[in-house]
Amino acid sequence: MKKCPFCAEDIQDKAVKCKHCSEFLNQNHVKGDSSLWYFRPTFMVIAFLSVGPLMLPLIWWSPDLITRWKIGITVVIVGVSWGLYLMALKSLAMIEEYYSFLNSL
Ligand SMILES: [Zn+2]
Repeated sequence: MKKCPFCAEDIQDKAVKCKHCSEFLNQNHVKGDSSLWYFRPTFMVIAFLSVGPLMLPLIWWSPDLITRWKIGITVVIVGVSWGLYLMALKSLAMIEEYYSFLNSL
């Protein structure tokens, strides 16, 4: 007998599915399915391009990536987002400068 990791009830050692809470005990079922479309690298790139750093949770949910990669990708994404943010601020300042120049004429 062993304990179910989900409901802590006693279950058979060879059980694949818990009879108490009907959770699957197989690791492949417990872990996220890496073949899911939203864990594919292409989708992650598209997600980053469209929502920016908001897609970071997706990386941390991904069952495929090891923690070191997750940290690395997080650092890169935060860095790139910060750079884009600074560029946006700079161009806003330039537009403002341009308008005040036009007003002073
Ligand atoms: Zn259970």
